[in-house]
Amino acid sequence: MSEKKQSELLNPGITDLVLGDVLEERKRQDAKWGEQTHHPHGWLAILMEEVGEAAKAALDTWDDPIDIDAFREELIEIAAVAVAAVEDWDRTAGFKAWLEAPAS
Ligand SMILES: [Mg+2]
Repeated sequence: MSEKKQSELLNPGITDLVLGDVLEERKRQDAKWGEQTHHPHGWLAILMEEVGEAAKAALDTWDDPIDIDAFREELIEIAAVAVAAVEDWDRTAGFKAWLEAPAS
């Protein structure tokens, strides 16, 4: 990273807008699915599904450049899922119960 401080790199207006959109997406996810608790592998699968959807949205813009908003929406969903996984981590002390459970 350059010698600029991180705080100098952020554009507060844009950052606040994006984080607001991520928060709205988190609320939408909670309304749809409720509080989620998953094994780390489950979170990774969910996150990669969203990454796949973002990749599809990006590739689709070659055929339909008007649909670029779909790519942004998928990026927000990726961020919201990552936040949900971190929330799960914090609620469960680092997925302690999952990781200490005997393998089945
Ligand atoms: Mg998606």
